[in-house]
Amino acid sequence: LSDSPIEVQTEQMKSLVQDAEKEGVDSEEPVSMPSPSASVSPDAPSVTITGRDANTLSTCRNRSKSRGKPAKEDKNICVKQYKDPALHSSLLGPKQNTQDNERTLLIRGTEKVLQGRSEPNGNYMNNPHLKNIQDHENGIKHPRKKKPVTVDSAKAKTSLEALKISIKHLKWKEFPMGRRAACDIYWHGVSFHDNENIVSGQVNKFPGMVEMLRKISMSRAMRTMQELFPEEYDFYPRSWILPEEYQQFTTQIRMVKESDATVNRTFIVKPDGGSQGDGIYLIRDPSDLKLVAGSQAKQGVVQEYIHKPLLIDKLKFDIRLYVLIKSLEPLEIYIAKEGLTRFCTEPYQEPSQKNLSHVFMHLTNYSLNVHSGNFVHSDSQSTGSKRSLSSVLYKLAAKGVDIKKVWSDIIALVIKTVIAVVPELKVYYQAEIPPGKPGPTCFQILGFDILLMKNLKPILLEVNSNPSMRIEHEQEVAPGVFEYVPSPVDEEVKVNVIRDTLRLMDPSQEISAEPESPVPSPEEALPSLCLKQVYPKYTKQFNHLRLVERIAALFIRFLGVKGNMRLGPTAFRTFIRTCKLSNSSFTMASVDILYIDITRRWAGAAADSREAGMGLQAFVEAFFSLAARKFKSLAQRQQVVALLELCELSVCEERRSVSCSRALSGGSRTLPHTAHLSPVPLRRAVSQDQRLHYRLKARTLRVNADN
Ligand code: ADP
Repeated sequence: LSDSPIEVQTEQMKSLVQDAEKEGVDSEEPVSMPSPSASVSPDAPSVTITGRDANTLSTCRNRSKSRGKPAKEDKNICVKQYKDPALHSSLLGPKQNTQDNERTLLIRGTEKVLQGRSEPNGNYMNNPHLKNIQDHENGIKHPRKKKPVTVDSAKAKTSLEALKISIKHLKWKEFPMGRRAACDIYWHGVSFHDNENIVSGQVNKFPGMVEMLRKISMSRAMRTMQELFPEEYDFYPRSWILPEEYQQFTTQIRMVKESDATVNRTFIVKPDGGSQGDGIYLIRDPSDLKLVAGSQAKQGVVQEYIHKPLLIDKLKFDIRLYVLIKSLEPLEIYIAKEGLTRFCTEPYQEPSQKNLSHVFMHLTNYSLNVHSGNFVHSDSQSTGSKRSLSSVLYKLAAKGVDIKKVWSDIIALVIKTVIAVVPELKVYYQAEIPPGKPGPTCFQILGFDILLMKNLKPILLEVNSNPSMRIEHEQEVAPGVFEYVPSPVDEEVKVNVIRDTLRLMDPSQEISAEPESPVPSPEEALPSLCLKQVYPKYTKQFNHLRLVERIAALFIRFLGVKGNMRLGPTAFRTFIRTCKLSNSSFTMASVDILYIDITRRWAGAAADSREAGMGLQAFVEAFFSLAARKFKSLAQRQQVVALLELCELSVCEERRSVSCSRALSGGSRTLPHTAHLSPVPLRRAVSQDQRLHYRLKARTLRVNADN
């Protein structure tokens, strides 16, 4: 995929392999990877686990067999202990056994327990950690402890359990009911808007992410990138947007069939806002599309079905990878070194008319397969229907697969996908938190769903803005009785991702992101970060892809009004004038027609067209068309680059300011503060837009009628 493959840290792959080895692998597979010499936690102590806060971890409920939210009135709560105490030992806080004067102190996140016998004067032999406590008791002053970071978890929803554990590991302060005063971090379960009116701190969701990652928006963003960089973006299956591209879809499929009758492709249909496999079905003929629900046209995408997936144990599976966007400006992306794999529960066969409806064969969603009689809940991370990514990679390595290459392809896929969605996110961001308005900064953990093809090429299925962070799963222990039991594989992966995201977002310190340099901390020894920085680390290989982001910077620059996400006709004219794009053969009247044509088409396509004007995606289309008109002789990508350079230069010339070139190329630390760069009184211009809009509509209709 990537022209220049990324150097994957050998350490990282080693640790993946080591993790897998710890869990054990199928003995029937020959292992071709060198056996790692060091264990993952070389100093894993022999710890006596004394118990835990069981109520918060495991509940079982007596309830009806039908799925859904547990009934509020369920009182039949029972308590379960984790089977693998070592995995959960880190939950224990400092433990004090006053009876025999022996103290046990657990170092957070390390499974290390320090022990010492309390001397009459409180001296803990040879133990610096306990000495600190003793010094404190003796009144010896150490530098003042910094205030703990505060986290508002009131809206955390299903990620609450994993979040609580993470906060405990870090010794931060949780506010489960929210707090009157501001918190450092707000943890939302769904979207940026879960809490209103946050004016400071950091929120774990970006505005617009939910909208941007819906199947239609995502497909559009990927298509724009595919137009500019077809080879780089070949990891996203060909998709058509429904209902608007139904005709193109049917025509293209018929043409393929007519040219080669033996070709019988399969397609997967997905509703726009769907998740967990809801409403998904496979088709082999366009006539099988269900286009309406009641009297409404169904919004969704129909996508090429990847019919040759890589199989393990004859089963199709996909990868859930956690990705942190730490910041949009500058763009900072981290990938979790450990992920999950979700397995189908019926052996895979290539699609045929007979098996099209076999969801347990074709769809890897946990939420579907958990209902198959074949689903295997497992305490081991390398068996069962949900496994750790490292155990799968290990298994593949054992078969001789070049997992270093697979991993670097996955990293490239992630970076390219984020680059595709960032432009629109920036538009949302400046509308929600305009420059000058107090507001929080944002970060977000995304769930990437990736399928490996038989030839090991990773394919992006979708990106989840709200990946499940549940660390328990439902189990039916008796007919109709469901129990929430801890899921070790989920907990191991998800708690680490949340905890390390928090560490990276710690407002009180900037810590090293590199796995090879352990995080310095005087008091505690947390494990090295499970999140690996991939951008800007690999800036060189990917920066050339950020063309649409530069178009978005121009777009934002001409929006003019705080909170706006759409360009009016006057602002569009201002853009054309500023960039000197009109001339005798491309008059301002033609500019108006271009604006109206494109805006009208997009207004029809947009699910939410309440706001009038030109959105970013429509502006990008207009930009491509202007580029094609101005630089006819060049290939499309060069046309766009040439026009961008021209526009950026014009804007900067007009302002005669160096800072604006920086703002447009995205080099500043904050989002480009475009409003103050407005060359004309855009506020006035926007207020004129409504009138002009109507005048232009009438004129365009006349022009069209003339034709
Ligand atoms: P949802 O958001 O409902 O989970 P997905 O896009 O993730 O929708 O699709 C659900 C499942 O369908 C995936 O987990 C995968 O197993 C399968 N799937 C989705 N798209 C494709 C595709 N293009 N080719 C093959 N399988 C696919």
